[in-house]
Amino acid sequence: MTERQRPDRALGRLLGPGRPEVDCETCFDELDRYVDMQLAGADADAAVPGLAEHLAGCPACREDFESLRDLVAGDSDGDGISPAG
Ligand SMILES: [Zn+2]
Repeated sequence: MTERQRPDRALGRLLGPGRPEVDCETCFDELDRYVDMQLAGADADAAVPGLAEHLAGCPACREDFESLRDLVAGDSDGDGISPAG
């Protein structure tokens, strides 16, 4: 007897436990690359897995990210940007 029907496990991998953890240090380290890729239209999320999640949960890094993104994008006219002390 051969079973040709195999269950797709692809769905189970969407929220698998094998996610990389990104801390503030790693975030800061990869932020340049992440912003660069995002602005280039590349898959920044795939290049630096876990970083987007860190940004979502870390206001400090998110502020860094937004500032850097504006800087790299050449948009120095953005409002709401406070000078870093
Ligand atoms: Zn952080």
